Amino acid sequence: MANPSILILAGDGIGPEVMSEVRKVIDWFGAKRKIKFNVSEDLVGGAAYDVHGVPLTDETMAKALSVDVVLLGAVGGPKYDKLDFSVKPERGLLRLRKEMELFSNLRPAQCFDALADFSSLKKDIVAGLDIMIVRELTGGVYFGEPRGIFPDNEGGRVGINTQRYTTEEIRRVARSAFELARRRGNKVCSMEKANVMESGILWREEVTWVHENEYPDVELSHMYADAGAMQLVRWPKQFDVIVTDNLFGDILSDTAAMLTGSLGMLPSASLGAPDKNGRPKALYEPVHGSAPDIAGTGKANPIACILSFAMALRYSFDLGDEAVRVEQAVESVLASGLRTADLMGPDGGKPVSTTEMGDAILKALDASL
Ligand code: NAD
Repeated sequence: MANPSILILAGDGIGPEVMSEVRKVIDWFGAKRKIKFNVSEDLVGGAAYDVHGVPLTDETMAKALSVDVVLLGAVGGPKYDKLDFSVKPERGLLRLRKEMELFSNLRPAQCFDALADFSSLKKDIVAGLDIMIVRELTGGVYFGEPRGIFPDNEGGRVGINTQRYTTEEIRRVARSAFELARRRGNKVCSMEKANVMESGILWREEVTWVHENEYPDVELSHMYADAGAMQLVRWPKQFDVIVTDNLFGDILSDTAAMLTGSLGMLPSASLGAPDKNGRPKALYEPVHGSAPDIAGTGKANPIACILSFAMALRYSFDLGDEAVRVEQAVESVLASGLRTADLMGPDGGKPVSTTEMGDAILKALDASL
C-alpha cells in the first residue's frame, strides 16, 4: 500500500501511556524495515472534551474517515463521570464506530505459552490457543425496534427488545469471517440459536448462502450458541474463526478472552464498510479501558495495544509476516520472564514499567532481523 496512513487517538488514562510504546514500534518499522507510516495524532474522549467541549470533533471524525487505520488507546475516567450523556468520553468512541460503520468486531483469543498458567483453564487446554471471534457489532437485539419499557394490561410493565437481522447485515459479517479464515486456519464456525429463534434460522441460511456462493473453499460448521459456549471452555482449540451475532458475540468473546489471562494482553479490531480503495475501514484498540486506578504510575501493560497494531499490520496493511514478527517479539519477551505488574504471579518478583516493556519488545524486534 502506498503511503499507509494511521490516525492515533490515544484518549484518556493509560491510553497515551500505552500508545507511546506503540509509537515506538511504528517508528521502528520506519527505521529498520523501511515501512513508513504516515502517522497523525488527535484527541478523543475526555482529552477532546477538555479542549473542545466535545468527545470527538467533526474535524477528527473526518480525519478518521480519510485514513487507512485508526489506532485508539482508551477513553473515560472518573473526572468525566458526571458529564451529560451526550458529551461523555464514550460518545466519541460510539460516534467513530457508527460513522465508520464498524459492523465486524474481531476479538482474538491467543494464549502465549509463557502465560498459560494465567488462564482459569488447565494449561494443556489453552497453551498455543489461537482463535478469533467475529462479532456482529451494529445490529441485532441491542439496536432492534421496538424496544423500551411499557405498561402492560395488568397494571405491571413489560420490557421489550427486538432481535432483528437483515440478509445484508448477516452476509457482510459472514464475508468478513470467511475472509479472515482464509488468512488463518480456513475454518469458520457460525453460532446462533436456530433451534428457537427465527432470526437464528435466517442467520444460518444466509451464512450458508455466502459459503456456498462465495467461499466454498473454507470449511463451515454451525453450532447453537449455548453449545458453543460449552465447547469454548471444554476444547477451545477445535475452533479457528467463530462468527456470531451481537448479543452472543458479546458473551462468547468475553468468555474466550478469559481463556488467555490478563486484560492487558487483549487486542481487538473493528472492521467496517469499504473505503474509497475498497478496503474495510478499520479501528484497532486494546480491549481494556483507561484504567484510572493505575494511570500515571507506569504500571500499564502496553502489550494489548502493541498487539492491536500487529492486527492492523495483518488485516489492513497486508503485512502478515511483520505482524508475526511483532507477536513473536512479544512472545520472546514474555518467555524471558519479563512481566508488567498485571502479569505477576503469586510468587512475585519485580515487575517492569510500561516503558521498560516497550523497550524490551523493541530489542526483541531488533533481534528478529
Ligand atoms: P479498565 O479496563 O480500564 O480496568 C479494569 C482493571 O484492569 C483495572 O484494575 C486496571 O488497572 C486493569 N487494567 C486495564 N488495562 C490494563 C493494562 N493495560 N495494564 C495493566 N492493568 C490494566 O476497566 P474499568 O476500570 O471498568 O474502566 C475504567 C474506565 O475506562 C471507565 O471510564 C470506562 O468507561 C472506560 N472504558 C473504556 C473502554 C474503551 O475505551 N474502549 C473500555 C472499557 C472501559
